[in-house]
Amino acid sequence: MIFRTHSSTRYSVAALLGSIETDHRLAELEVSAPLELSDNMIQRVVDRGRVVIAQSVMSTQIDRVFRENRMVRDRFGDSVILVAGGPHASARPKELLDAGFDFVVVGEGEKTFRDLMWCLINDNDPANLDGVATEDDVSFPKPRDLPKVSLDDYPPFALGMNILGPVEVTRGCPFACKFCCTPFLTGGGVRHRSVESVMHWLKQAVQKSGFRRTWFLSPNALSYGGKGRDVVPDKLEQLLKESTAVEGLEEVFFGAFPSEVRPEFVNKPILEMMRTYVANDTLQIGLQSASDKVLEYSNRHHTVSEGLNAVEIALDCGFTPHVDMIFGLPGETRKELDDTIDMCQALSDLGARVHGHVFMPLPGSSFENMPPGRLDQESRSTLGELSRRGVLTGSWSSQEGLAARLAAPE
Ligand code: SF4
Repeated sequence: MIFRTHSSTRYSVAALLGSIETDHRLAELEVSAPLELSDNMIQRVVDRGRVVIAQSVMSTQIDRVFRENRMVRDRFGDSVILVAGGPHASARPKELLDAGFDFVVVGEGEKTFRDLMWCLINDNDPANLDGVATEDDVSFPKPRDLPKVSLDDYPPFALGMNILGPVEVTRGCPFACKFCCTPFLTGGGVRHRSVESVMHWLKQAVQKSGFRRTWFLSPNALSYGGKGRDVVPDKLEQLLKESTAVEGLEEVFFGAFPSEVRPEFVNKPILEMMRTYVANDTLQIGLQSASDKVLEYSNRHHTVSEGLNAVEIALDCGFTPHVDMIFGLPGETRKELDDTIDMCQALSDLGARVHGHVFMPLPGSSFENMPPGRLDQESRSTLGELSRRGVLTGSWSSQEGLAARLAAPE
């Protein structure tokens, strides 16, 4: 099996290959995870037998994935089996089947993908597996209808293949921000990896791979240990205290990119506690807009002043806040866009950094069918100036084109 890896999917690939390599039924399966596909590499594997080429597909990567798929199919025909999973596959399985994939894994992949591989190796029909879509299907499963994975049942990364990544400590989110596809993909119920499981894998990674630092992955880091709507200080401290005490592990990053914290979860005692354990100097805070009206329409369930309060607390506690802002959210007026851009400068003046995004109608999100974010020339040049001065980072400039592409599928 060749798992085509990309910088945007490397964490998912690490977790999925961890699930594959710990399944004794798949002990004979040969696996590689290249960052590029080449004809020669595929040919060498095809010469030795049947080959599965798998991809985890982000919505922002579909043009590349479709292009590669066509090239592989044209060159190798039916000697390869093409499998897709990931966020775009879960939201639009038919689009991927139409693009030439033989099987699409919908929803969380840890169990389904390994069962699919077992079926393919043993010539069993995978069409009956929960969460596997084929071109014969007339209807497609939704992630919410499929069984949910317990994080403790699977490794966070592929230690045997030395394909490492962050430790996902929390999956699922009870909030339903309309621009976000996380609730669609992983559900509103929150599942945490237990401290025991985190310790187990960290100790293994230190011993076997010389792990010196780790990142914890979570949609809302300060929700660790609870039901997702409140901070549970004892559980959070237990996670940080025990993980930072692992012998040989020098740094633990928590609440920093690619994780985030919701503003209303931030309070001084929690950040003071965090500061004594974590290695990161930054805290990723989702504020998203300078307009309460836009936040409300996006179903964010926090206000602008709660966001600013979180920024100030973070600064007080010695963190540099990295604040996420989205330009062009549905319902945003020109004045609200101007206010959001002005707030980027104000946040920078306070000592924060801003991570700017242009609204993308992500498949699976409630705003999937909303018009893509668009910037007028004046806003674009103001944002460009903020970027040049280092006030703003992030992929906002390329996201405008991606947003338009997502709104108008091929
Ligand atoms: S943006 Fe964050 S808080 Fe909102 S639904 Fe997505 S993961 Fe949850």
